[in-house]
Amino acid sequence: MTDLTTLGIAAIRDGVRDGQFKAREVAEAFNAKVAGARALNAFLVETPEHALAAADAADAARAAGETLKPLAGVPIGMKDLFATKGVATTAASKILEGFVPPYESTVSQNLWNAGAGMLGKLNLDQFAMGSSNETSAFGNVVSPWRRPNDTAPLAPGGSSGGSSTAVSAGLAPGATGTDTGGSIRQPAAFTGISGIKPTYGRCSRWGTIAFASSLDQAGPMARDVRDCAIMLEAMAGFDAKDATSLKLDVPNWEAALSADLKGRRVGVPKEYRVDGMPAEIEALWQQGIAWMRDAGAEIVEVSLPHTKYALPAYYIIAPAEASSNLARYDGVRYGLRELPEGAGLQDMYAATRAAGFGDEVKRRILIGTYVLSAGFYDAYYTQAQKVRTLIARDFERAFGECDVLLTPTAPSAAFALGEKQADPLAMYLNDVFTVPASLAGLPAMSVPGGLDKDGLPLGLQIIGKPLDEQGVLNAGLAIEQRAGFTARPQAWW
Ligand code: GLN
Repeated sequence: MTDLTTLGIAAIRDGVRDGQFKAREVAEAFNAKVAGARALNAFLVETPEHALAAADAADAARAAGETLKPLAGVPIGMKDLFATKGVATTAASKILEGFVPPYESTVSQNLWNAGAGMLGKLNLDQFAMGSSNETSAFGNVVSPWRRPNDTAPLAPGGSSGGSSTAVSAGLAPGATGTDTGGSIRQPAAFTGISGIKPTYGRCSRWGTIAFASSLDQAGPMARDVRDCAIMLEAMAGFDAKDATSLKLDVPNWEAALSADLKGRRVGVPKEYRVDGMPAEIEALWQQGIAWMRDAGAEIVEVSLPHTKYALPAYYIIAPAEASSNLARYDGVRYGLRELPEGAGLQDMYAATRAAGFGDEVKRRILIGTYVLSAGFYDAYYTQAQKVRTLIARDFERAFGECDVLLTPTAPSAAFALGEKQADPLAMYLNDVFTVPASLAGLPAMSVPGGLDKDGLPLGLQIIGKPLDEQGVLNAGLAIEQRAGFTARPQAWW
């Protein structure tokens, strides 16, 4: 019998529907994988009973001859940024330790409504702030990948590093991620899996712990493009509880998948050729361009002149919004409360926040508060908002000449844990290719393109027009079919 944990979402869905195996067997197999991989620290909470209950419901529905739901029998991992009713939710921060939400986020509820089960809550960078998963208050996630003959632990990317690790190590066929400046795409690239951030507003933010509200967007991380399309269909949809939710029907992305790019124009933005980019990344990009051409697309060079201002603008806007969103953690309403002997209210706020937030979160709150303060608001925040508009206009103009854009996902392969931790700027630079699409609210995806000289995965990014997830997925599929990426990490855990 095949090892059921080698199957992706589509294969599990079809196999359960066709009676090749029981959903319960699938859930049991993944639960065992999760329990056997604790050395990776990908899960903060394991919920085997949730996965089994959903599986039993799928098996019962099939036995009763009912039409199965789109994700019936598929167990997934849930990033611990989504509030899950009755299951501890911390955003990997001490300040939320002990918080058990009395409500369910819309995205997770949508997945349960589609029949999916939950294997557990996935580790992440604290409040989704980071690119390596090292800012988690509950220990970093370790990538399942290693360099040859080298046991140095590598970063799984961030902030969705638990998600990327769970999927690439075969602990889950799919996982939710969130992407504020690249947190779905960069970890997907680092671990050789696929992930898509949809257009801002496609997935409801309700019940997702807020980082930077004008940027935060949920999306799926899975083994291939088809699985991403299936999962995104379940996650997306209008939600009256989120004022920025788009009132649009969810397209049937899976049914319209096509790797034929005839008549499509693929833009290659010249400003993404940054100084000091490793030759291997440039070579992968050229390879990607050749694959697109092979799929029938016409290649056009385009210009996004304000690209170099994207990172500085992001690191003003995201911390500004974070400083405001994180004001709610005051020791009064939920999670941690530090009440020193004889303390007044202000002392309690200060003690709680000092003890509860990690260093990176504090850094962002300080930056955010500074750029929003009376004397500096115009110089920093207003200026960054103007830059954001210019970046969005760059994309608008470029999309007059092409249908999708192709770039590398990240400027390097996975780095070693600890390598960039002492230097926040080096860490922030990792987001250089992912942040612009976030600022413009555009759909963007990473698909694996190949391996570097150390055998580590590299990703290619496709950025699309607003609401054109289909164009992004289809270009991703064209790459996937040509890259033939089958590498998987060798289990050492
Ligand atoms: N690495 C980026 C940051 O630290 C992006 C994080 C994210 O997308 N959540 O802000």
